[in-house]
Order: sequence, then C-alpha cells, then structure tokens
Amino acid sequence: MSDELKYIENKEGKFAVPCQIKIAEDCVQIGEFCESKEDALYWAEEECWIFSGEGCFCLQCNQEIMRNIAKLQTKKTN
Ligand SMILES: [Zn+2]
Repeated sequence: MSDELKYIENKEGKFAVPCQIKIAEDCVQIGEFCESKEDALYWAEEECWIFSGEGCFCLQCNQEIMRNIAKLQTKKTN
C-alpha cells in the first residue's frame, strides 16, 4: 500500500507525506520531513492522518469531508 503513496522529497533527501486533498482552510498541507519514507509514513500515522486508496490526508481535511457529507445528506433528504 505504501508504494502507492506519493512522497515529497526535499533537498536534504528527506521524505514527507503530503495531504492529498487539501480542502480544509487549516489543512496541514504536508507532513514532517523524515529520514525515510517509512518514518514519514509513521509520522502521519502518529498524527492520525487518514489513509485511503487515494492516498492520505490530514485530520483537518477529514473533518471537512465529514462536514461535506453531512451537508450532502441534508440535501438528499429534501
Ligand atoms: Zn489536509
């Protein structure tokens, strides 16, 4: 699964996991740069980022998604 994730590499050769959706105003945008991809992924897991088939995203965006779903559900009931 981790092979499908996109990582960002900085000049120092460190890796970070970017938020894939960036829909929240307070989106973290990008995780912390770590020595290895595994560490970057571990960091994201520690921060409780959400992992899906599409990639991963931060808690703030997850909350935004939840809000959007709630909005959609209210629309459907009309
Ligand atoms: Zn985000």
